[in-house]
Amino acid sequence: MATTISHTTSFDVEGIRKDFPILQRQVNGKPLVYFDNAATSQTPQVVIDAIVDYYSRYNANIHRGVHTLSQEATDAYEQARIKLQKHFNAAKAYEMILTSGTTHGINLVASGFSSLLKEGDEIIVSAMEHHSNIVPWQMLCEKTGAILRVIPMNEEGELVMSAYTALLSEKTRLVFCNHISNALGTVNPIEEIIEKAHDVGAAVLIDGAQACPHIKPDVQALDVDFYVASAHKMCGPTGVGVLYGKEKWLQELPPYQGGGEMIAEVTFEKTTYAGLPHKFEAGTPNICGGIAFGAAVDYLNGIGFDKIEAYENELLSYATKELLKIEGLRIYGTSGHKTSVISFNLEGIHPYDIGTIVDKLGIAVRTGHHCAQPVMDYYKIPGTVRASFAFYNTREEIDALVAAVKKAAQMLA
Ligand SMILES: *Cc1c(COP(=O)(O)O)cnc(C)c1O
Repeated sequence: MATTISHTTSFDVEGIRKDFPILQRQVNGKPLVYFDNAATSQTPQVVIDAIVDYYSRYNANIHRGVHTLSQEATDAYEQARIKLQKHFNAAKAYEMILTSGTTHGINLVASGFSSLLKEGDEIIVSAMEHHSNIVPWQMLCEKTGAILRVIPMNEEGELVMSAYTALLSEKTRLVFCNHISNALGTVNPIEEIIEKAHDVGAAVLIDGAQACPHIKPDVQALDVDFYVASAHKMCGPTGVGVLYGKEKWLQELPPYQGGGEMIAEVTFEKTTYAGLPHKFEAGTPNICGGIAFGAAVDYLNGIGFDKIEAYENELLSYATKELLKIEGLRIYGTSGHKTSVISFNLEGIHPYDIGTIVDKLGIAVRTGHHCAQPVMDYYKIPGTVRASFAFYNTREEIDALVAAVKKAAQMLA
């Protein structure tokens, strides 16, 4: 075992793998090789324990009860918010709104802006957005008469920044872009995107769903207005996520949903809203999910994002090199600045057929358009096979993928 990891010096991947019970299982009689991390990550035992502990010991509704269980649950939930604040380096804990995930966070902001935009205002999105970052803006434009503009991409899968600069004007009110593309793995130059948007007075929302498993964003250093992420791509559970918003924006935006928890006072004549963050957290939240999200963030920080990033980059270069040895294989997204996502096709073969064959060999990859149809349209392909690596993956697993893709190529030729 030690020999296989000697090149990664301080990274004990075999030790880390023991934290993830699911990595022990077999699929179709073979050891599971999980390469669909960009869709959802696996869950370490400490996060599973946090979930079991909550339901076994202190399951209760929060912010309302005087009883002990309710106070314990409230404390744990608010502790999780503070963990998120520290992780993202937000100025205030109440700038961290707990959501059901990235999609919810984006819709919350889009809905809020519907009362701030007017006809002729412009919204800029990038050509490599996830559908969850395109559709809400189209809906917002329909509602307000604002116009959607798109930053184009190039063959390498990078945004054309000169075109972005040309799109910006005093009409631009909002810019939305993902930090890392889930379809291609490209790391977008969000510092520059944010700075240029601010120069024309526009607000910026960054979709960090694909970035947060790999890097630790600093929302104050970025000076970003909104930043969203999902717990389930960061070793946490599904159904919970976070929206960071600068205090001044969160004060200005109207609430997204009405209900319990989000009010200060209700009469039939008038309701006054609660302060932040409760104004945006109507109804009983995913209490256990929020607490487990905090545990996941602790787990990742315990390993350290520097180490995670360095190790995943190693996996990325190794896999890129080995996959490109296969005849007729093309990788989409060849930016020098990308994370451990490889989208590829074999000449003349449908991605779905490759996905089916490698699954028979126990390997989980994604096939299809990855909720980024405009990217597929750009390359004029129906979809790709996407292998996305996490810090608990190994070189041996990449070897298994390469062998499986070779086998698929022979079978389907
Ligand atoms: C996964 C993903 C989303 C959607 O996240 P949900 O958890 O499904 O809401 C949005 N954007 C990007 C870049 C993603 O990778």
